[in-house]
Amino acid sequence: MIGEGIQSTNQRKHSYVQDHVEVGFFTDPSVCIGCKACEVACKEWNHVPDDGFTWSGNSYDNTGHLGASTWRHVMFLEQDRPKGNQVTGSMGLPADPQSDMSAVGSPEAEDPFRWVFLSDVCKHCEEAGCLEACPTGSIVRTEVGSVLVQNDVCNGCGYCVVSCPFGVIDRRPEPLVDAGGAFKCTFCYDRQKSGLVPACAKVCPTESIVFGRLDDLRARGAERVQQLQQNGYSDAQLYDPTETSVRGIHAFFLILGEPEAYGLPPKPQIPTIYLKSAWTSAFATAIASIIATLLAFAFFS
Ligand code: SF4
Ligand code: SF4
Ligand code: SF4
Repeated sequence: MIGEGIQSTNQRKHSYVQDHVEVGFFTDPSVCIGCKACEVACKEWNHVPDDGFTWSGNSYDNTGHLGASTWRHVMFLEQDRPKGNQVTGSMGLPADPQSDMSAVGSPEAEDPFRWVFLSDVCKHCEEAGCLEACPTGSIVRTEVGSVLVQNDVCNGCGYCVVSCPFGVIDRRPEPLVDAGGAFKCTFCYDRQKSGLVPACAKVCPTESIVFGRLDDLRARGAERVQQLQQNGYSDAQLYDPTETSVRGIHAFFLILGEPEAYGLPPKPQIPTIYLKSAWTSAFATAIASIIATLLAFAFFS
């Protein structure tokens, strides 16, 4: 399944927009090599400006996080545990190298370490907080189920920014082009309308990002988790919060370990689910104020 080459849905022309087929991304970090071709392709195709060329000094990940000028972000996670059936012993250090240098390089001196690369992106939520909050109608749902910001309609109010449970969408700062407007991944809607695959999936050399029909990808993801678990990746699981008010995402991930390690909320919720309790409290407060005022008049008159 992995590595289908020219047979891959990443390399085929399609008519998903014309046929109104729901599409998605399945991202599998177990085959990602951290090359960042996806980040670069996104910038190139969409003319996304640079975001400061910041040198973090912490890791090879100098991008840091998604933002108005970073629509793809390849995370570099460094974790003290083995990856699948990885053998960690021969180059490991003892717990205290000062007192026990004889153990260096021995199988006993295990120092498990793994790098996991995950290419993060807007999740194109089934119930999107950004879309619900937008007062101008700038954010719309497309024929393929993706969530699109129409930048010529956006007034830069920022309601979408605080309503995204994943911290994806953001306003672009001065002095960048179109500063003040809200930006995020477009799912390459312009490419899709012409039957082309999104730029990031098209260039991914390992098919860590796979683009295609959402139902096919969900089946493929479940199969891949099963395959990895059989091969020693006991912590492999799918991240697709279908049980919360987000009701599932179009860009879903296979993750190794817990979602928090990737900055993904375990139970993301759209803010509007809290509206009912907020209105109930406001109503109860208003009634209590009216009763208190009436009692005050009755008592002092
Ligand atoms: S991840 Fe955030 S920005 Fe993307 S569709 Fe969902 S709510 Fe909107
Ligand atoms: S789908 Fe297009 S806009 Fe979205 S991350 Fe990929 S290349 Fe960028
Ligand atoms: S997702 Fe693909 S293109 Fe992006 S860093 Fe990983 S291997 Fe490279």
